Amino acid sequence: MTYKALAEEASQYLAVVQGIRRELHQIPEFGLQLPKTLERVLASVEGLGEIHRSPTISGASLHIKGAKPGPTVLLRCDLDALAVTEDTGLPYASTNGYMHACGHDLHAAIGIGAAHLLRTHADQLNGDVVVFFQPGEEGHGGADIMLEENLHLVSGSKPIAAYGIHVFSQRIPRGVFTTKPGPLMASAGDMLVTFHGKGGHGSSPWMAKDPNSALIEAMSALQTMVTKSFDVFDPVVVNIGWISAGDPHTTNVIPETASFGATIRTFSALNFERVRRLAKQLVENIAEGFGLTATVEFPPSSQVLINDAGAVDRVERVANETFGAGRFSRMEFPILGGEDMASILKEMPGAFVFLGAATADHDIDQLAANHSNKATFDDSVIPDGCALLAALAIDTLNEAAAS
Ligand SMILES: [Zn+2]
Repeated sequence: MTYKALAEEASQYLAVVQGIRRELHQIPEFGLQLPKTLERVLASVEGLGEIHRSPTISGASLHIKGAKPGPTVLLRCDLDALAVTEDTGLPYASTNGYMHACGHDLHAAIGIGAAHLLRTHADQLNGDVVVFFQPGEEGHGGADIMLEENLHLVSGSKPIAAYGIHVFSQRIPRGVFTTKPGPLMASAGDMLVTFHGKGGHGSSPWMAKDPNSALIEAMSALQTMVTKSFDVFDPVVVNIGWISAGDPHTTNVIPETASFGATIRTFSALNFERVRRLAKQLVENIAEGFGLTATVEFPPSSQVLINDAGAVDRVERVANETFGAGRFSRMEFPILGGEDMASILKEMPGAFVFLGAATADHDIDQLAANHSNKATFDDSVIPDGCALLAALAIDTLNEAAAS
């Protein structure tokens, strides 16, 4: 069958997948435990293949077996919502204090529809497909936990490619797929620093070890470090978001400690490690210069999301074959958001693709952004998402069989 026929078939799913998406939209759940969401998703894919559940979190892999032996392709769908109180006025708006403000309810429906398409055409599949239904994308490390639990390996072989889709409520025109090879999304992580000194009387600073002085030096030195140590064409952002030291009611006390927290964004694996190492060294050396010590922490962070160039070429070709010209565009620059699909794409090559789901045709830059409590998504794009994921899996398996 042609990919165009697959898209026509998917378009007949519209009412069903839209219905599932709107049901999920009314029961958003947060973090790693999404019991109602996962039950609804798994009920929708019952009978399509073997279901392997995570023993610890609300995640599961659906293993669809092809008629012919071959490798495995992984399709990733995230399921979790945000702690945002919805203010969209939609008839199916959430009322429980959480909100699918990042469109992961559409991702769930896209995965469900893709699974049905693939099962329907399993007789032509040159291998297997694993649909990875994942909780905890929004900073909870859901992908990493599922990878640690080997839920990507349920077919018995490591997938040769992975694909995922993310919908956007603004900026990308409705129905347009877009992505780029190489770095697509930043590594986003925090740096938490505390300088430990010796408190004292503000009248006699030489008797104390003032942590505030070290903090001020570190703030400007970190910016200088970024400029002097990192290639401007492989950008690094270090931005201090909060500082905390002393007591606003007293001016005559030198505090024991002074702290700050910064966000760090990088676009290469090299800089991901290097900025942490250099920043830690710099802060510790500044502390030492002032006769203090410093503790530096880097809480878990998302990695740089890196698309495989060949996989992006495949997305472009398959999107053109499936939907005709004009539905795919290449992005020029990466975006600074973080995504734990990055962890999956570190394990296996593949591509993460953005899909425009804007609810208006004009001034789409002015629409409420993903994560806003007013964000709305046009769920009529879901069938095209289903068709693209299914076509990418078929195409990848066909190519592997031919080689
Ligand atoms: Zn998201």
